[in-house]
Amino acid sequence: MLKRFISYYRPHWKLFCLDITCAFLITGIDLLFPIITRNFINDIIPNGKFELFWKFSFFLLILYILRTILQYILEYWGHVVGVRMEADMRRDLFTHLQTLSFSFFDKSRTGNLMSRVVNDLNNICETAHHGPEDLFISLMMLGGSFLVLININVPLTLLIFGLIPFIVWFSAKKRIKMMNGFRNVRREVADINSELENSIAGIRVAKAFTNEEYELNKFTKKNISLQKSRENAYKAMAEFFSGINFMSNLLKLIVLVVGGYFVFENKINYGDLVAYLLYIQLFLTPIRSLTQLMQQYQQAIAGFERFLEIMEVKPEIQDKEDAKELKDVKGEIIFENVTFSYDNKEKVLKNINLKIEAGKTLALVGPSGGGKSTLCNLIPRFYEVESGRILIDGHPITDIKISSLRRNIGIVQQDVFLFSGTIRENILYGRLDATEEEIIEAAKNANIHDFIMQLPDQYDTYVGERGIRLSGGQKQRISIARVFLKNPPILILDEATSSLDNESELIIQQALRRLAKNRTTLVIAHRLSTIKDADQIVVLTENGIQEQGTHQQLLARNGLYASLYNAQFREYSA
Ligand code: ADP
Repeated sequence: MLKRFISYYRPHWKLFCLDITCAFLITGIDLLFPIITRNFINDIIPNGKFELFWKFSFFLLILYILRTILQYILEYWGHVVGVRMEADMRRDLFTHLQTLSFSFFDKSRTGNLMSRVVNDLNNICETAHHGPEDLFISLMMLGGSFLVLININVPLTLLIFGLIPFIVWFSAKKRIKMMNGFRNVRREVADINSELENSIAGIRVAKAFTNEEYELNKFTKKNISLQKSRENAYKAMAEFFSGINFMSNLLKLIVLVVGGYFVFENKINYGDLVAYLLYIQLFLTPIRSLTQLMQQYQQAIAGFERFLEIMEVKPEIQDKEDAKELKDVKGEIIFENVTFSYDNKEKVLKNINLKIEAGKTLALVGPSGGGKSTLCNLIPRFYEVESGRILIDGHPITDIKISSLRRNIGIVQQDVFLFSGTIRENILYGRLDATEEEIIEAAKNANIHDFIMQLPDQYDTYVGERGIRLSGGQKQRISIARVFLKNPPILILDEATSSLDNESELIIQQALRRLAKNRTTLVIAHRLSTIKDADQIVVLTENGIQEQGTHQQLLARNGLYASLYNAQFREYSA
């Protein structure tokens, strides 16, 4: 793990070395002040050495100007190293996420993934640059002071340095308690936010069932819990700050009393005592940063582990080394003995054999959960078949480059997803290098152009979170325009189950019929018109393909299709 972490420093090693050098010089300058002060008090001032007095003063002034420049470099470029490492990690994570298969996203929660991409990496990279710098500065500060002080007086120095580990331990403990407290608060805030979101989104249901009281009780519980967590966090914070202040004051008092006593006894002189007091002041900063570091380190390690956990997930579906491009696709699709399960246990599809001739339409019908969507998802290799194979124009899909395979398949899903952005951008998603004319042509084919032209910003109208709300039918037509633009020889349509009003249904059907023309089409069909027009109908249930044939053939069989048809569709056909 450490090796992997260090690899992120590598591209920035020059900046990193610059930072450490600055940290080294700054610490050196800070260590000088008490020594010079001690010389002033013990020697230069009592003996009236005016020339040295001015020389040292001027020297210090120059050093402080230099220190300012060094600190500027350290603060700025140190953070730059962290920020750049973070950007590198975020890029790697995002690139990696893009390669992962559907099954990974089935298992992962979006919220978790987002917090990894944003929060974890931020924690990691703050520590990545502060960690080594602070550790270096603190250890050098403590080590340097120790060397100076032990030369002045051994027992007093040992006493102080004996206390330091205890102070670090105490502060770290209190600090971790405080940070845990605030982490709880963050968790509860997220919790209450999602509760609130849920309640507001469902407020109509709550009112319809007159369950406002129930909602209020649920919310109140969360609210009280958040309040308690915040109180606890502030309690831990109060303990931490009052505790460390007490510790540092105690340290100063001990030096003053014991050191003062040594002055009485003539074991050290005034300048030495002042030097001790000044060094104590110097210690307090590194002690604080050491304790902060301990806690940051914990968080960063946990974050980095989570980061690696994702980075180590191998994309399940990858190109073979000698994968080919699909050329001049006609669009014949064959399923040969295809078996598939999501979890290697329960088979969703068993020994499916199916042939869709090029340019023909196959309608999949059957009860929900029968495996229709699953079957469709296997063709673009969103999931990998367990046994058997699927062939396009005679080529097993595993021999075809995934990008080439997917370029030749267009999908219109039931739940259309539009990205936040303009309508133009959303249509353009079908083929990023399309021209304006091609976009408009696609929109016309999808029967959405006229609607778009009525909008105030036409193709530049925003959709998504901050944009206009589109109806299900409008969204679907935009997604159809996308596929027109892509112009693939193979088409997978998942018809919307929810009924649209007659007019939009007609418009969509017309667009889909236009889209399906001259393409091999596999449609998960819920509508009678689609089913009747299909060249072939397959009735798929949990037990596999039950029936297969044309509408008339299947009706004549008087089997499952006939009963499904009688139950669902007859009323429409009347
Ligand atoms: P249909 O499209 O006919 O309604 P599906 O293909 O959606 O059927 O589902 C077939 C079976 O596979 C169902 O039992 C469903 O619960 C299961 N299933 C569907 N998608 C997933 C998934 N991503 N992970 C695990 N199981 C799934």
